[in-house]
Amino acid sequence: MEKQIKENSDEMPGGSGKTRSCMRCGLIFHYTGSGHLICPNCREADMKDFDRVREYLYDHQKSNIAEISEGTGVSVDIIESFLKGGRMEIPNDSDVFIRCERCNKEIRSGRFCASCAAELTAEMKQALNFDKAQIGVEPERKGKMHYKKREK
Ligand SMILES: [Zn+2]
Ligand SMILES: [Zn+2]
Repeated sequence: MEKQIKENSDEMPGGSGKTRSCMRCGLIFHYTGSGHLICPNCREADMKDFDRVREYLYDHQKSNIAEISEGTGVSVDIIESFLKGGRMEIPNDSDVFIRCERCNKEIRSGRFCASCAAELTAEMKQALNFDKAQIGVEPERKGKMHYKKREK
């Protein structure tokens, strides 16, 4: 959570901000804020991998990630990144799915299941509505007389 809030902090290598590390080669590059976390050097290879996986899936719809990796030569990490980035979806009748990062429920693509996403959104909204400056501490004197502590 904290990482998302600190989105516009300094340009730390690998951290948040405008520089990101490439999903494929780890190179720190300037991220424009759109598209996938792929550096310019890897973009072409990434597209080729994606096409290869997509073509493989036409013929082998029920393959799990390990089988796809074997059949295409594309690494499991990269295939998972296609799924988590929402670029690919596991078919409904697959035997193997990826899992929600929060509750471990099986999902077809992305990082969270729908209910966790809804809860996370609600949590984030609350955090936005009440920052510390908006919350006052209740005074302790309620109704009755109160004594002011003598200052020494
Ligand atoms: Zn790269
Ligand atoms: Zn979940």
